[in-house]
Amino acid sequence: MASQTRKYWKALKCPVCGQRAVFYVTMAAVKDATQYPVPFEVIHEDHKFLIYLDSGLLISRIEEPQPPLSSPSQSTKKKKTKRKKTK
Ligand SMILES: [Zn+2]
Repeated sequence: MASQTRKYWKALKCPVCGQRAVFYVTMAAVKDATQYPVPFEVIHEDHKFLIYLDSGLLISRIEEPQPPLSSPSQSTKKKKTKRKKTK
């Protein structure tokens, strides 16, 4: 009763670069999931995006890529951290 790790090939339009992305998923991606859909990270060339799989390994939805933040440290809150100088 050897459960084969069957590969389910998927092809979709990469939301990052717009090219066709081909990848595979296995049941291992969803078998331990406690809730569905399961987030699954797809690595496409030099970038990656996130899709969501249902229990039948069908693509439930595709996560839109996060726009790159132009401001690296945009903190509106002023930090009120009392630092004790332990000297
Ligand atoms: Zn891509």
